[in-house]
Amino acid sequence: MGKISGRCMCHAVTWQYDGTVTRNLVCHCTDCQRATSAPFTAFIGLNPEQVHWSGEINHLESSPNTWRGFCPACGTRLYFKSGKWPDEIHVHAATLDNAENYKPSAQVVMRSRAHWLDDLADIPQHQNFQTDPKIK
Ligand SMILES: [Zn+2]
Ligand SMILES: [Zn+2]
Repeated sequence: MGKISGRCMCHAVTWQYDGTVTRNLVCHCTDCQRATSAPFTAFIGLNPEQVHWSGEINHLESSPNTWRGFCPACGTRLYFKSGKWPDEIHVHAATLDNAENYKPSAQVVMRSRAHWLDDLADIPQHQNFQTDPKIK
Protein backbone atom coordinates (compact mmCIF):
# COMPACT_ATOMS: atom_id res chain seq x y z
CA MET A 1 0.00 0.00 0.00
CA GLY A 2 2.99 2.36 0.47
CA LYS A 3 2.23 5.56 2.37
CA ILE A 4 -1.23 5.55 3.90
CA SER A 5 -3.00 7.78 6.38
CA GLY A 6 -6.27 8.10 8.20
CA ARG A 7 -8.35 9.93 10.75
CA CYS A 8 -11.33 9.72 13.09
CA MET A 9 -14.67 11.28 12.17
CA CYS A 10 -14.01 14.58 13.99
CA HIS A 11 -10.35 14.95 12.82
CA ALA A 12 -9.02 15.11 16.42
CA VAL A 13 -7.02 11.90 15.81
CA THR A 14 -4.96 11.34 12.69
CA TRP A 15 -2.44 8.66 11.73
CA GLN A 16 0.26 8.18 9.11
CA TYR A 17 2.05 5.02 8.03
CA ASP A 18 4.87 4.18 5.68
CA GLY A 19 5.54 0.46 5.72
CA THR A 20 4.28 -3.01 5.01
CA VAL A 21 0.66 -4.02 5.49
CA THR A 22 0.89 -7.35 7.29
CA ARG A 23 -2.82 -8.23 7.27
CA ASN A 24 -5.89 -7.03 5.42
CA LEU A 25 -9.15 -8.56 6.45
CA VAL A 26 -12.78 -8.32 7.38
CA CYS A 27 -13.48 -9.65 10.87
CA HIS A 28 -16.89 -11.15 11.64
CA CYS A 29 -16.21 -11.94 15.31
CA THR A 30 -18.86 -11.06 17.87
CA ASP A 31 -16.48 -8.78 19.81
CA CYS A 32 -15.89 -6.65 16.70
CA GLN A 33 -19.63 -6.57 16.00
CA ARG A 34 -20.33 -5.25 19.51
CA ALA A 35 -17.32 -2.94 19.72
CA THR A 36 -18.06 -1.22 16.41
CA SER A 37 -21.90 -1.42 16.56
CA ALA A 38 -21.68 -2.83 13.04
CA PRO A 39 -22.23 -6.26 11.45
CA PHE A 40 -18.49 -6.54 10.67
CA THR A 41 -15.34 -4.45 10.55
CA ALA A 42 -12.25 -4.35 8.34
CA PHE A 43 -8.68 -4.12 9.62
CA ILE A 44 -5.25 -3.51 8.16
CA GLY A 45 -2.32 -4.93 10.11
CA LEU A 46 0.54 -2.44 10.50
CA ASN A 47 3.90 -2.36 12.28
CA PRO A 48 3.05 -0.48 15.51
CA GLU A 49 6.42 1.29 15.62
CA GLN A 50 5.88 2.83 12.18
CA VAL A 51 2.42 4.23 12.80
CA HIS A 52 2.54 7.90 13.77
CA TRP A 53 -0.52 8.95 15.75
CA SER A 54 -1.52 12.47 16.67
CA GLY A 55 -4.31 13.44 19.03
CA GLU A 56 -5.59 11.92 22.23
CA ILE A 57 -6.68 8.26 22.17
CA ASN A 58 -8.61 6.36 24.84
CA HIS A 59 -8.26 2.60 25.26
CA LEU A 60 -10.63 -0.11 26.35
CA GLU A 61 -9.24 -3.47 27.49
CA SER A 62 -11.99 -5.52 25.85
CA SER A 63 -10.50 -8.84 26.97
CA PRO A 64 -7.28 -9.62 28.86
CA ASN A 65 -4.29 -8.07 27.06
CA THR A 66 -6.51 -6.91 24.19
CA TRP A 67 -6.97 -3.19 23.65
CA ARG A 68 -9.32 -1.19 21.48
CA GLY A 69 -8.42 2.43 20.86
CA PHE A 70 -10.95 5.15 20.12
CA CYS A 71 -11.19 8.92 19.83
CA PRO A 72 -12.54 10.35 23.12
CA ALA A 73 -14.14 13.28 21.29
CA CYS A 74 -16.20 11.47 18.63
CA GLY A 75 -15.98 7.79 19.65
CA THR A 76 -14.57 6.56 16.32
CA ARG A 77 -12.89 3.18 16.74
CA LEU A 78 -9.26 3.41 15.64
CA TYR A 79 -7.50 0.12 16.28
CA PHE A 80 -7.31 -3.27 17.92
CA LYS A 81 -4.10 -4.39 19.62
CA SER A 82 -3.54 -7.74 21.28
CA GLY A 83 -0.70 -9.44 23.15
CA LYS A 84 -1.35 -12.32 20.72
CA TRP A 85 0.12 -10.21 17.92
CA PRO A 86 2.77 -8.01 19.59
CA ASP A 87 4.29 -6.98 16.26
CA GLU A 88 1.04 -5.74 14.73
CA ILE A 89 -1.55 -3.11 15.34
CA HIS A 90 -4.84 -3.67 13.56
CA VAL A 91 -6.10 -0.30 12.38
CA HIS A 92 -9.73 -0.01 11.28
CA ALA A 93 -9.71 0.31 7.50
CA ALA A 94 -12.72 2.64 7.62
CA THR A 95 -10.45 5.32 9.15
CA LEU A 96 -8.34 5.46 5.96
CA ASP A 97 -8.34 8.88 4.30
CA ASN A 98 -9.25 7.22 1.01
CA ALA A 99 -11.41 4.47 2.49
CA GLU A 100 -13.50 4.42 -0.71
CA ASN A 101 -10.60 2.68 -2.47
CA TYR A 102 -10.12 0.07 0.22
CA LYS A 103 -10.59 -3.61 -0.56
CA PRO A 104 -10.03 -6.48 1.92
CA SER A 105 -8.27 -9.68 0.90
CA ALA A 106 -9.80 -12.09 3.45
CA GLN A 107 -12.72 -12.66 5.81
CA VAL A 108 -12.18 -14.28 9.20
CA VAL A 109 -14.30 -15.80 11.98
CA MET A 110 -16.98 -16.81 9.46
CA ARG A 111 -18.88 -18.79 12.13
CA SER A 112 -20.35 -15.53 13.50
CA ARG A 113 -20.82 -13.73 10.15
CA ALA A 114 -24.24 -12.05 10.08
CA HIS A 115 -26.52 -14.38 8.06
CA TRP A 116 -28.31 -11.50 6.30
CA LEU A 117 -25.05 -10.52 4.56
CA ASP A 118 -25.65 -13.50 2.25
CA ASP A 119 -28.78 -11.71 0.96
CA LEU A 120 -27.32 -8.20 0.77
CA ALA A 121 -27.41 -7.97 -3.04
CA ASP A 122 -31.13 -8.84 -3.02
CA ILE A 123 -32.19 -6.28 -0.40
CA PRO A 124 -33.84 -3.18 -1.95
CA GLN A 125 -31.36 -0.34 -2.53
CA HIS A 126 -31.81 3.45 -2.41
CA GLN A 127 -29.36 6.26 -3.14
CA ASN A 128 -30.55 8.26 -0.12
CA PHE A 129 -32.59 7.71 3.01
CA GLN A 130 -36.11 6.76 2.05
CA THR A 131 -38.57 9.64 2.47
CA ASP A 132 -41.43 7.17 2.79
CA PRO A 133 -39.99 3.91 4.05
CA LYS A 134 -42.25 0.98 3.45
CA ILE A 135 -41.25 -1.70 5.92
CA LYS A 136 -42.27 -5.15 4.83
ZN1 LIG B 1 -12.62 12.07 16.74
ZN1 LIG C 1 -12.93 -9.32 15.41
